[in-house]
Amino acid sequence: MDVFDNQNDLIAAVAAAKKADKRIGFVPTMGALHDGHLSLVNMGRREADFVVVSIFVNPTQFAPDEDFEAYPRDTERDISILEGAKVDCAYLPSVDEIYPNGVASNLQAGEAAKGLESEFRPHFFDGVCSVVHRLFEIVQPDVAIFGKKDYQQLMVVREMVKAQRLDIEILGAPIVRDVHGLALSSRNAYLSDAELKVARRLNLILKHDRPTPNAILKAGFDKVDYIEERWGRRLCAAWIGKTRLIDNVPAS
Ligand code: AMP
Repeated sequence: MDVFDNQNDLIAAVAAAKKADKRIGFVPTMGALHDGHLSLVNMGRREADFVVVSIFVNPTQFAPDEDFEAYPRDTERDISILEGAKVDCAYLPSVDEIYPNGVASNLQAGEAAKGLESEFRPHFFDGVCSVVHRLFEIVQPDVAIFGKKDYQQLMVVREMVKAQRLDIEILGAPIVRDVHGLALSSRNAYLSDAELKVARRLNLILKHDRPTPNAILKAGFDKVDYIEERWGRRLCAAWIGKTRLIDNVPAS
């Protein structure tokens, strides 16, 4: 596996793969990799001949009071996981390479971004669109894979690709959960053992007939940002202590 921190090296490797008629698959991540990310990589390997995974903790999708500094980072471990998953190329750009004109969002997310996450993280989807668009510009993939765990994000990215008339297929990968049904997330690393027990109740509550914010609070969560149905899914964001979890299930 090649590991690049420089776009020119990456662009050359992708160009060589394209010249050999390979279909390029791309999985953008923020690292602290787990089996959820690996399922996206595996889908990439099924759908493409040459798989690029980026690791970049994107500053524009964090508000000043959010966990950008504390976000878990373990590059060595991530690289060895990607080697094991037979990824062709890992791309770990610097902030300057992604934001050569200064760290700011330069794209506005569309309709799909309205409500839900944006009510609580108004900066978030402009940041996501900006970084994903910039990464697409560098990687030039044929297909890119996003997790349904971040369902609204998947919808926002699909809309952005259409609006920008990019010729990139966007695939949604199923949510990977632990044996208790908790959706895997890099942020689960913040949870204490007691908090983990509470977190594991969320998916069960969401699958109830008519779950209420109160049911989530009763289960031990401290705050519910939203629980709402859209796109045939029931989506929720809730806090345990300082950790914010999101999840979604098919709406019944
Ligand atoms: P992140 O590193 O959190 O930005 O996530 C990178 C990609 O992995 C996004 O497309 C996420 O939706 C996806 N992802 C994260 N956790 C999971 C999971 N448990 N199941 C499926 N996809 C996931």
